[in-house]
Amino acid sequence: ADQAFDLVVLGGGPGGYSAAFRAADLGLKVALVERYATLGGVCLNVGCIPSKALLHVAAVMDEVSHMADLGVAFGEPEVDIAKLRAHKNKVTGKLTGGLAAMAKMRKVTVLRGVGSLVDAQHLKVEATEGATGQAKTGAVQTVAFKRLIIAAGSQAVRLPFLPDDPRIVDSTGALEMQVEAEKMLIVGGGIIGLEMGTVYSTLGSRLDVVEMLPTLMTGADRDLVKVWQKFNAHRFDNIMLNTKTVGAEAKPDGIWVTFEGEGAPKEPQRYDLVLQAVGRTPNGKKIAAENAGVAVTDRGFIPVDVQMRTNVPSVFAIGDIVGQPMLAHKAVHEGHVAAEVIAGELLGDEKLKKSQFDARVIPSVAYTDPEVAWVGITEDEAKAKGIKVTKGLFPWTASGRAIANGRDEGFTKLLFDEESHRIIGGGIVGTHAGDMIGEIALAIEMGADAVDIGKTIHPHPTLGESLGMAAEVAHGSCTDIP
Ligand code: FAD
Repeated sequence: ADQAFDLVVLGGGPGGYSAAFRAADLGLKVALVERYATLGGVCLNVGCIPSKALLHVAAVMDEVSHMADLGVAFGEPEVDIAKLRAHKNKVTGKLTGGLAAMAKMRKVTVLRGVGSLVDAQHLKVEATEGATGQAKTGAVQTVAFKRLIIAAGSQAVRLPFLPDDPRIVDSTGALEMQVEAEKMLIVGGGIIGLEMGTVYSTLGSRLDVVEMLPTLMTGADRDLVKVWQKFNAHRFDNIMLNTKTVGAEAKPDGIWVTFEGEGAPKEPQRYDLVLQAVGRTPNGKKIAAENAGVAVTDRGFIPVDVQMRTNVPSVFAIGDIVGQPMLAHKAVHEGHVAAEVIAGELLGDEKLKKSQFDARVIPSVAYTDPEVAWVGITEDEAKAKGIKVTKGLFPWTASGRAIANGRDEGFTKLLFDEESHRIIGGGIVGTHAGDMIGEIALAIEMGADAVDIGKTIHPHPTLGESLGMAAEVAHGSCTDIP
C-alpha cells in the first residue's frame, strides 16, 4: 500500500465528513476519499444547502408580495438570475470551504479521487481533477485501512425514456437555474420536486406536477399536505395524480411530454423545463464492494447493523447508501456511531465500543411555503397499524404570533399513545415548521406525555407555543380554543 490509515472514509458528504471528523477527534489516523473538488457531498453542494439558499429568497419574495394587504406595498421584484446563482454558490462555497479547513485542523488526510474496494483491508483511489471529477490519468494509489466506512451516498434516478436535453434536468440541473421556464413540469411530487417547484414558480414559472401515487408529499399526513396545497394552488396549472410520464420528445419549441393514468391529458403537453425528481438510488453497486465480500442489495443498498457494520467486520457503511430515509441528519448521526464504534475497537475503549444508532424517530421536513414537518408515527400510519392515538391539534388561527405574522393557515398536531399516554408522533404545517419539529422529536425521545409538554412554559407569543397548546388540547385541559 502507498499509505496506511486506521480509518478510511469513502465519500465526503454529511455522513462521511461527520464520521471522519469524529474519528480524528477520538485520536484515529483518518483519510477521507472524495471524487469532487469540495467536501460536503450532495447536501452541501447540490442538495439541502443550495436549495435552501434559493428557497429563502423565494420565501422573502412571496412574503413581500403579500405585504400590500398589511399596508406596505413594494414594487415588482427585479430578478438577476446570475446574481442569485452567485449568491447560492457563495453560500455553498462558504460551507464547503469551512469543511476543508476543519479537515485540515483535525489532520484528516483528504484524498481526491474515485475509491473502489480492493479487499477487506485496501482501497484503490484513482485521482480525479476538475469540477466534474474526471480521472487524472495514471494517478492511482492503494491505501491500507484497519477499518473502512462506506459513505458513497446516492444519485438522482433518471427516467430512461426521457431524452438527453438541457431542458430536462434533475435536482442538480434545476439548482443551476440555466433554463428560463415559463412552463415547467415536475415529475415526482415529493419533497425535492416541490421545493424546486416553489423556487421556479416564485421566479415566474407556471407549474404542472405529475405523481404516480394518489397524493403529493407522500409520507406526510393528508391534513398537513392539504394546508400546503391550498396555500400553493396558485402556482399550479395541473396536478396530475395517479399518473405517469411515459414519453417525451425534445422539439425546438419545447419538451413535449406524454402521460398515462387518471389525471393524464390526452394530448402531449409542451414544457420549457422538465424536472425529474422521482427519487434517488444508492451508489452501492459502483464501488466494487464485492471485492471485499461486502453484501449489496439488488437496489444498491448496503445492509448494516445498529453499529453501522456491514457483513464484513472491517467495513462499515452510513448515510443514503444504507437505506431510507435519505436525509442528511440521519447520515450525520450514523457517521458518529460508526466512528465511535471503530475508535472503541482500535483504541480498546469499552464505552465507545457500545455506541449504536438507536434513534426512535427521524424528522422529515419539506421546506416549502408553508413548511410541512412531521416526525414519528403519522395519523395515517397509526390507523393502518391499528394503534389508538389521542390527538391534540392546535390551529394557528388561534395563535397570536401566527396572526400577527399574517400567516395563520397552519396548525400543530401531536399524537399520543392512548395506552401509555406518551407522545409517539406529530406534525406541523406553517411557517418555520421545520425549526420546531425538533422539539417533538426530543419529546418522543424523552418519552414525554401531554402534561410534560403542556406544562412546559413556552415563550409567548411564538409559533413554538402551539406545541404546548396542542398538548393541552390532547390533555383536555384547554377550554378556550375556538
Ligand atoms: P452524499 O451526500 O451523497 O455524499 C456522498 C459523497 O461520496 C459524494 O460527495 C460523492 O461524490 C462521493 N462519492 C461517491 N462515490 C465515490 C467514490 N467511489 N469515490 C469517491 N467519492 C465518492 N436532506 C436533508 O436532510 N435535508 C434537506 O433539506 C435535503 N435537501 C435535499 C435537496 C436536494 C435537491 C437533494 C438532492 C437532497 C437533499 N437532501 C436533504 C438529502 C441529502 O442531501 C442526503 O441525504 C445526504 O447528502 C446524504 O449524505 P451521505 O453522506 O450519505 O451522501
